[in-house]
Amino acid sequence: MFKLIDLPYDKEALEPVISSRTLDFHHGKHLQGYVDNLNKLIQGSQYEKMPLEEIVKASATTAPNPVFNNSGQILNHNLYFQQFSPAAANKQDAENLAIESAAPKLAKQIEAQWGSIDAFKEEFTNKGATLFGSGWVWLSAKNDGSLQITQETGANNPVTKGLRPILTFDVWEHAYYLDYQNRRPAHLQALWSILNWKELEKRYSE
Ligand code: MN
Repeated sequence: MFKLIDLPYDKEALEPVISSRTLDFHHGKHLQGYVDNLNKLIQGSQYEKMPLEEIVKASATTAPNPVFNNSGQILNHNLYFQQFSPAAANKQDAENLAIESAAPKLAKQIEAQWGSIDAFKEEFTNKGATLFGSGWVWLSAKNDGSLQITQETGANNPVTKGLRPILTFDVWEHAYYLDYQNRRPAHLQALWSILNWKELEKRYSE
């Protein structure tokens, strides 16, 4: 049985970027729904005893199906919700310095590949803004430590391509519509101010 993850911050802590009302729906209703659906779907199946990531990988090999959609959405949202921190709501000027101290290995690799953290942020935001329809933009690591940005539609997660997910922005409308309506690019731009780079460094260093 899978359980809904707890949020590692108060529901008001990410405002105004992500409101408590959005979290009520996004975490309390959407993610809870995926958890309930998956628990029903895997009962008595070959997936019943598998860890979440294994279910995502195993069910991704067949045509899109409810087990993949629901397990993928749980994995995606667990990574998404656990990457934010109210303490990260820092001033734009100090932000990149703060990133270098919170995530030294990851920042160094980003700077090596993109030239600067700002250039990376711009490309990542743009990939999220231009993803057509519902999906996720990801930063992932390859086995050699190099990084890659990918756009994934629906419930897909880069683990299905052998990549290790580090950072993700949810571009399904349910993630931002209550707070930003149609202004997806403005929402994505604001997400940088609440990122917990220590958590990202942990994922990159694992
Ligand atoms: Mn979502």
